[in-house]
Amino acid sequence: MSIDRKILLLPGDGIGPEVILEAERVLECLNSKYSLGISIEKALLGGVAYEESGDPLPQETLEKADWSDAILLGAVGGPRWDDLPSEKKPEKGLLRIRAEYDFFANLRPAILSKYLVSASTIKKELVSDLDLLIVRELTGGIYFGEPRGFIEKNKAINTMVYDEEEIIRIGKVGFEAALKRNKKLCSVDKSNVLEVSMLWREVITELAKDYEEVQLSHMLVDNAAMQLVREPKQFDVIVTGNLFGDILSDISAMLTGSIGMLPSASLNESGKGLYEPVHGSAPDIAGKDLANPIAAILSVAMMMRYTFDLEDIAQEIESAVDSVLSEGHRTSDLESEGKLLSTKEMGNEILTKLEL
Ligand code: NAD
Repeated sequence: MSIDRKILLLPGDGIGPEVILEAERVLECLNSKYSLGISIEKALLGGVAYEESGDPLPQETLEKADWSDAILLGAVGGPRWDDLPSEKKPEKGLLRIRAEYDFFANLRPAILSKYLVSASTIKKELVSDLDLLIVRELTGGIYFGEPRGFIEKNKAINTMVYDEEEIIRIGKVGFEAALKRNKKLCSVDKSNVLEVSMLWREVITELAKDYEEVQLSHMLVDNAAMQLVREPKQFDVIVTGNLFGDILSDISAMLTGSIGMLPSASLNESGKGLYEPVHGSAPDIAGKDLANPIAAILSVAMMMRYTFDLEDIAQEIESAVDSVLSEGHRTSDLESEGKLLSTKEMGNEILTKLEL
């Protein structure tokens, strides 16, 4: 089943190249197993790109990003580049590529395998088998609204603004994601106080008429923060604005307790996506073959699901990861009673399952 699509790999800095190499091996394996006809290219982003060209997002990388249907990114940054001017910093390269393609929909699943419940600080029965998805609006809201800035030395302003179109496009992503899952969507806002949220709630309620199969609920953000910790499994998909999503997605990530396990996706209206692990470049363990590659590998699963619409393959990757965990295999970031696996060894275990 050739899908004739193109993927750009941006390994980046620190542990980025190590985890992306394992994700690439997974991609190559599936490409040949199912004759997907996927073409893969690589390019530089972040500190390595700055070292090579003086720019954290070189023109050549942008050209390859234009060519691709989906981008898989490792991580960028590290102490070596901390003192550069902000335009040259590795993180600036990432922010620019997100802006370049208008990746307005950020999808952050919080999935806790039943084999890793002890990693969470929350009671086992509350988080075992947790599987929720936060859909966060990424290019609007208070992080971008005008006016903004310091009005005087001791007075500053930011503006929360959303228009109907912005709410509709992120709302659709939330409803579509819910359709692919358990058909439950919770829209989070602060409509008891903010007019932006009143509009948000009105527009999402109207949009629900196009998605009769999906059960829609609304929740105020302060309550949502409490409920995520009190009874997280009541949620399936949450859709919310930029600021609330930023905070709620970090709360939900911490429910799982293991940063090396969490993938993410940022999508634009054409379905093009930037897929990346939630973790950073982990300079403390870079180059030591210790990093957990699972977040990067699960980012490939998200790519199969959201850009290529290959749900079966997405599930196959997720099952392979789960099966490896069920056998007790762990990298150094996860609690273990047995021998710890290196990055490569964890990749090998997952590949063995996929090759079956
Ligand atoms: P980090 O996520 O890189 O590391 C936090 C801790 O988690 C470290 O102890 C690290 O060893 C561990 N860790 C992270 N990923 C792991 C993995 N896959 N396997 C095992 N252990 C893992 O966050 P930080 O230390 O705050 O940031 C380090 C650098 O990464 C900074 O330069 C920061 O700007 C950058 N960063 C980049 C991104 C990105 O590229 N999207 C995101 C966050 C941070």
